[in-house]
Amino acid sequence: MPTCENCGEKWTWKQTIKTMFRLVCPYCDKKQYESASSRTRGGVFMLFPVVFLPINAWLEISVGIALIIAIIFVFITFGLYPFILNLSSEEEPYW
Ligand SMILES: [Zn+2]
Repeated sequence: MPTCENCGEKWTWKQTIKTMFRLVCPYCDKKQYESASSRTRGGVFMLFPVVFLPINAWLEISVGIALIIAIIFVFITFGLYPFILNLSSEEEPYW
């Protein structure tokens, strides 16, 4: 779970989901940024659906089932996001 770099409080899974698009600490109201290493890990997660597409074509899964699997992927990614998220008080450069 992410820990606020400003006040050192650990965010719960629910708090992280609530603030995942703004990343404002629920304890000290300070804006947090996703750390560079965390962004890299997040990027790997985003690759899963991309990797999945050719497998899908290969297995000739119907569009309906593929769509359901894609939605499940999105939910899993969102659900796991608090576990891979690492916070930083300052915005780190991408590279
Ligand atoms: Zn805080």
